[in-house]
Amino acid sequence: MRIVFLDRDGVISKYYPGDWSKKWEEFSFLPKAKEALKRLTKANYRIVIISNQAGVNKGLFGPKILRYITKRMKEEVKKSGGKIKKVYYCPHQEEDNCLCRKPKVGLFKKAERDLGYIDFEKTFFVGDSEVDILAGKNIGSKTILVLSGKTKSKEETKDWQKQPDYIATDLLSATEIILKLL
Ligand SMILES: [Mg+2]
Ligand SMILES: [Zn+2]
Repeated sequence: MRIVFLDRDGVISKYYPGDWSKKWEEFSFLPKAKEALKRLTKANYRIVIISNQAGVNKGLFGPKILRYITKRMKEEVKKSGGKIKKVYYCPHQEEDNCLCRKPKVGLFKKAERDLGYIDFEKTFFVGDSEVDILAGKNIGSKTILVLSGKTKSKEETKDWQKQPDYIATDLLSATEIILKLL
């Protein structure tokens, strides 16, 4: 089973610094993201989204709205020939001390419970922040940093605890890396 884990904001959709898409109208796909999701789907990758959405517990938007955004996102992706298999969110804030907020790996474990055994070493995690890279390293997957969200340049990664295995401009070029390594 080929699996690729993706962060959502800054990878698939527009990243709002210190903020989240609080309604569907604020959710916007990044250029070429749907094309990338289509290519991964055609290459038989199961696409699993792992995303921190602390805005829920901050009271900025409710779980119902998050479910609606997710439904619309999946529909849009489907229309363009892609398929998102699973979407997992952590709604908590740092002080909630949950087990699912990235860089913790609770959501990856949940995916494994739902999908069956996952050889994480053979998976990729694509994210736009240091926390994503740490989460990917913590679960043992290969990591790709995209520069289409929170992180804008390679220089910003200099002082990070862990370095990404690859750096790509956006999800489409990350996809090209993944498909080349097959
Ligand atoms: Mg992100
Ligand atoms: Zn959590």
